Amino acid sequence: MPDCIFCNIVSREIPSYTVYENDDVYAFLDIHPVNRGHTLVIPKRHARNVFDISSEDWAAVMKAVHALAGTIEKATGADGINLVMNNREHAGQVVDHAHMHIIPRFKGDGIRLMPGHAYKGDEAKEVLKKIRAALI
Ligand code: AMP
Ligand code: ZN
Repeated sequence: MPDCIFCNIVSREIPSYTVYENDDVYAFLDIHPVNRGHTLVIPKRHARNVFDISSEDWAAVMKAVHALAGTIEKATGADGINLVMNNREHAGQVVDHAHMHIIPRFKGDGIRLMPGHAYKGDEAKEVLKKIRAALI
């Protein structure tokens, strides 16, 4: 994937601030952070998003995220951490190489990631029926 910015970061053709790496995953500072210490964790093998990443690479990314969440919270003095993944354009994905965001959060930082809206009428039952019918 020569035209993929994150593949080029993995191969060091584009510089980045390395947080952690192993054979399967690479973690680096997001260049435009929500808060200081905002880190991206990606599979070294190119995948576009959650829909096409292999289960092995997904597990490797999650293992790194699990370890780094606590490390980053402690190191930045954060009061919490958001784990966010955008998948496809209309879910906010800009870079088409799968990545998990680890975002340090601070008391009073005023960031609101998930505005919720109450279900109306039978909406909950209807969407639940569709999801359950689609389960393998
Ligand atoms: P997303 O909207 O989930 O696709 O997020 C893409 C993220 O990649 C954004 O938060 C960008 O700030 C970040 N980003 C883009 N280019 C770079 C880069 N060269 N180094 C580090 N982070 C980057
Ligand atoms: Zn890539």
